[in-house]
Amino acid sequence: MSASVEGTPVEKARAIGREIARLHADDVDRQARFPKEAIEAVRAEGLLAASVPRELGGLGATVPDVVSMCQGLAQGCSATGMVFAMHHIKLLSMAAHAAGSDATQGYVREICDKKWLVASVTSEVGVGGDLRRSVCAVETTGDTFSIVKDATTISYGAQADGLLLTARRHPDSAPADQSLVWLKPGDYTLEQKSEWDTLGMRGTCSPPFLVRGKGRADQVLREGFGDIAPLSMVPLSHLLWGGVWLGIATEAVSRARAFVRAEARKNPNGPPASGLRLSELQARLQSFRTLVYAMAEEYNGAMVNKIDKDHLLSIGYALRLNNLKLVASTSVAEIVTAAMPICGIMGYKNTSPFSLGRLLRDSFSAQLMINNDRLHMTNAQLLQVYKDDS
Ligand SMILES: Cc1cc2nc3c(=O)[nH]c(=O)nc-3n(C[C@H](O)[C@H](O)[C@H](O)COP(=O)(O)OP(=O)(O)OC[C@H]3O[C@@H](n4cnc5c(N)ncnc54)[C@H](O)[C@@H]3O)c2cc1C
Repeated sequence: MSASVEGTPVEKARAIGREIARLHADDVDRQARFPKEAIEAVRAEGLLAASVPRELGGLGATVPDVVSMCQGLAQGCSATGMVFAMHHIKLLSMAAHAAGSDATQGYVREICDKKWLVASVTSEVGVGGDLRRSVCAVETTGDTFSIVKDATTISYGAQADGLLLTARRHPDSAPADQSLVWLKPGDYTLEQKSEWDTLGMRGTCSPPFLVRGKGRADQVLREGFGDIAPLSMVPLSHLLWGGVWLGIATEAVSRARAFVRAEARKNPNGPPASGLRLSELQARLQSFRTLVYAMAEEYNGAMVNKIDKDHLLSIGYALRLNNLKLVASTSVAEIVTAAMPICGIMGYKNTSPFSLGRLLRDSFSAQLMINNDRLHMTNAQLLQVYKDDS
């Protein structure tokens, strides 16, 4: 791919997925290394600022456009798509809650100007994947703060330029009384506590780290995480992850389709039997895609101009958003699995152009990124009081 790509941000991201991420995906996976070629191309094209409104220094891409970028990058390399998704979940969550705070607006502009890559530190020893509880706390002294967080997983922690971290607001605060804290380059150290040698998503480079940070008090976002989570961080996570998983599923179906076409060329008497399985798979992929983009459009509508809190905080929306994650995270593994018997041994081989091994391994991470059982438990509680049958 040439040094610079022509087109819209979506076209640029899709070209990087096709022409750079795809080229390095197997090596990234084999070596469990950061997808530096694709992420540097994303950075060079200014796409690390894609989701941020123009007035804060970004490109002002809509949420469906960012989902489409995640999908296109993940079609080439799941880890690249996931790094891009996690960065935008963090950055856009910060931007969405910057109104009324000159400091937060300034930090968002700085991240965009300097093309920084932002990582996420929510999971923690003691609370696991419970996003809405923290053990660590912000300790404020005058106009500075310090923090120590024992993080179970930080994707691209060693490669990121800054961290967005959840913590209790104060050492006396309850576990759910949380703040969101921005740690920029030079504000923190990372002590890696073990390796990241996993089944899939190996290129996200997500080992546990002990984070020690400090900074100015205005790096702690004014709005509590209790408001930020349901209005931006949770919806954006489920939507952008959904885009990544859709990219993985799309790639699997596209490999299965290429295989069936090759078989059909060998037999002029009509499509092979695997053509029926492919038809079923295509229908499942279509409904998966429709779900992800319909939810992305709905969220975008509720975000434009001002955040529609009534809509985003309703029980119905919370249920549907959890269902998006539950359906998307299971569909991706089911679709890749169903592509396997279509491609047969050529899908099973690691070296074939129809290989599905990496996609299958990557797809299993989806059910763990906020464990699906946590969402089922939340939905079970919400369904006790939800009354709308429409
Ligand atoms: C590829 C990848 C990248 C990641 N990157 C990051 C990152 O950058 N930053 C970050 O902070 N985290 C990251 N994570 C962590 C992730 O978001 C989850 O927090 C983590 O995977 C949860 O780990 P767990 O399943 O052990 O813990 P838990 O979610 O605690 O689940 C453990 C077990 O307990 C059960 N359980 C616990 N509590 C409940 C409950 N209330 N209701 C029902 N069941 C319950 C679960 O069903 C499960 O069986 C990443 C994970 C993956 C897979």
